[in-house]
Amino acid sequence: MAPVQVKKICCIGAGYVGGPTCAVIALKCPNIIVTIVDLNKARIDAWNSPDFALPIYEPGLVDVVKQARGRNLFFSTDVDKAIEEADLIFVSVNTPTKKSGVGAGFAADLNYVELATRRIATVASSNKIVVEKSTVPCRTAESMRTILEANSKPGCHFDILSNPEFLAEGTAIDDLFAPDRVLIGSLQTPEGISACESLAQVYSNWVPKERILTVGLWSSELSKLAANAMLAQRISSVNALSAICEATGANIDEVAHAIGYDSRIGPKFLRASVGFGGSCFQKDILNLVYLSESLHLPEVAAYWRQVVEMNEYQKRRFSKRVVDTLFNTITGKRIAVLGFAFKADTGDTRESAAITLIKDFQSEKAIVSVYDPQVPHDQIWQDLQEASPLVPLDTIKKQVSICNSAIEACKNAEAVVIATEWKEFKEIDWEEVYANMNKPAFVFDGRLLVDADKLRKIGFKVTTIGRPSNT
Ligand code: NAD
Repeated sequence: MAPVQVKKICCIGAGYVGGPTCAVIALKCPNIIVTIVDLNKARIDAWNSPDFALPIYEPGLVDVVKQARGRNLFFSTDVDKAIEEADLIFVSVNTPTKKSGVGAGFAADLNYVELATRRIATVASSNKIVVEKSTVPCRTAESMRTILEANSKPGCHFDILSNPEFLAEGTAIDDLFAPDRVLIGSLQTPEGISACESLAQVYSNWVPKERILTVGLWSSELSKLAANAMLAQRISSVNALSAICEATGANIDEVAHAIGYDSRIGPKFLRASVGFGGSCFQKDILNLVYLSESLHLPEVAAYWRQVVEMNEYQKRRFSKRVVDTLFNTITGKRIAVLGFAFKADTGDTRESAAITLIKDFQSEKAIVSVYDPQVPHDQIWQDLQEASPLVPLDTIKKQVSICNSAIEACKNAEAVVIATEWKEFKEIDWEEVYANMNKPAFVFDGRLLVDADKLRKIGFKVTTIGRPSNT
């Protein structure tokens, strides 16, 4: 069966994945028309904004959109039209952890995937290749196929592929330009293999052939969950070791350096921190936990659950260290929290460690001043309100203020807590910060970002992850 040559692509979901991924496809494949659609009009308006005030912050993204938008890249709320015209449709909608009902707290909420799939089935009047871009539980493609076949128009055929996305927020454009690998899963039928070749041809416009891996559908779906689970496991492992370092006098940087030299382990992703955040790691591990439980594999579920529990422990341990070090009370004390995004170079705050830390400081009756260079103030208020739903926003605003610079946030503070590894925090004028803080002035580096020795010379008392206090 000859593969279909893809001429028009529709991407359902204009978020952190659908937006950058399909913008890069449009840039690299000028002969393919790419339309990214979303039900969220505000988001689409932002993608279309004349001054390129895009709805997400990613280094390099504006350049990509500037080059392709209006040429062969379009953003629209007209989901049906884009589905109808496309020969290949990415489903890149959100798959959050279920908040209520059966499996709440663990299972993936597949409502958005199902609604998008039903829409495709209802609207399509010609053959389509439907590609799971969202991260989904293993065998979701089977449910999608059942829905598509039960609702399709006569003579309309759908092939389903899995093509999980491995980009990391903050480096999304670099990751998309030069991916470690592109993974495409298909049924091992002539139709499935042919659809897989069609998508591989799209990527081969810029990705070397040896980096395009083709596997079975279920392996592809599981590989995405497995990759995130193993990355998060590495962070939890190094964070578990950081606790031992703090108690023994070992230095986690030195330990990570030493173990990373082992070629079987490797040096990447061994940085201790206040804990991982982001919309994916926790969600995808919990998804794996739920899957393992559904398959009656309780020991496997317990193994992966521990990675998330270790992460929660690390955040709480850090908050407790702040309180302990500030003479066991932070009541009425100003704590400056530098960084609110879950990592540097993104404005995304989902599952950010900063949210947990601020909530802990609020519960200890501290006064908190927050600064982040990218996260909009409205987003910070929304996150803090969601973290404490029973506390009125006005009450939260009495305890927390949002500042427009790191220097402003640190003014009259007793302690500075670095929650996100923004480069600018390395470069702020720490002498000025020190001069304007109450004394003794403390710094708690949750990201191993600043030069602790330099800060100590200024006069700060510095506590970092993975080292005994003030050493
Ligand atoms: P997101 O919430 O930023 O974007 C999803 C978008 O889909 C939203 O704008 C929403 O309005 C839209 N949407 C939902 N249902 C729709 C429908 N029926 N029709 C049209 N639009 C619809 O989510 P995201 O971060 O882009 O993640 C998308 C998927 O990719 C998730 O499964 C996630 O796990 C996975 N993923 C995310 C990342 C990441 O770093 N964010 C990386 C790899 C994979």
